[in-house]
Amino acid sequence: MEIIDSHTHWGPSITLGTEVTTDELLHQAELSGVERIVIFPFPSTAIEDERINDKVLELGKKNGKFIPYYYIPEDLRPIPKERNFYGGKWHWVRGVQDCSSNYQVLDDPHLDPFIEASEAISLPIVFEEELAFTEAFVKRTRDLKIIIPHLGMLGGNPLDFLQTFKKKENVFFDTSLAGKEAIMRFIEKIGKERILFGSDIPFGTMKRELEKILSLPIGGDEKEWILSKNLKRLVKIT
Ligand SMILES: [Zn+2]
Repeated sequence: MEIIDSHTHWGPSITLGTEVTTDELLHQAELSGVERIVIFPFPSTAIEDERINDKVLELGKKNGKFIPYYYIPEDLRPIPKERNFYGGKWHWVRGVQDCSSNYQVLDDPHLDPFIEASEAISLPIVFEEELAFTEAFVKRTRDLKIIIPHLGMLGGNPLDFLQTFKKKENVFFDTSLAGKEAIMRFIEKIGKERILFGSDIPFGTMKRELEKILSLPIGGDEKEWILSKNLKRLVKIT
């Protein structure tokens, strides 16, 4: 069964003062049997200079193992249609990273055009904000596919995210850094088709995050959806 990592950071990070290299990702992939890897830039780097998006895209063109996502800039320009990105990354826009949302963004006149354009492009967005912000955002969408990382762990309690979005077919979750028990609760409640495996390198390792999924008490078919089929369907690759 093919395995795709749906969440890694590539390139330099200004705030962390480190860099995740192409070789590092390929090395981890080889160690764990991962065949393709979704990559996006670190937030601090992209906010400082959005040309890092071009570099992510270039790497995707050069090496088919990589699936490049576009870091959505703070002025809410949508994923550029003609450029072969496979998805987007929305990260605490104008808020405090990994900590608190900026609710003024919900009043930004650019938000509705952003949502409209994103729905027209029809690519998924890894979307991280507080639960209340995420809920307000999702209410404004029709069928925009969003992937909430870590089962929502940084934006609130995962079980509250689950309760809020269990009936929302356009809301997906990735398993990076989440506990096995929580992952099982999600699978039991919303099934296998809205959950994606991700490692969140450098904050997790591919091997450990993958072993977590492989050791879940579920069947091979369910694992295959989580490990690659859902992502392939979302980003429209075979
Ligand atoms: Zn991440």
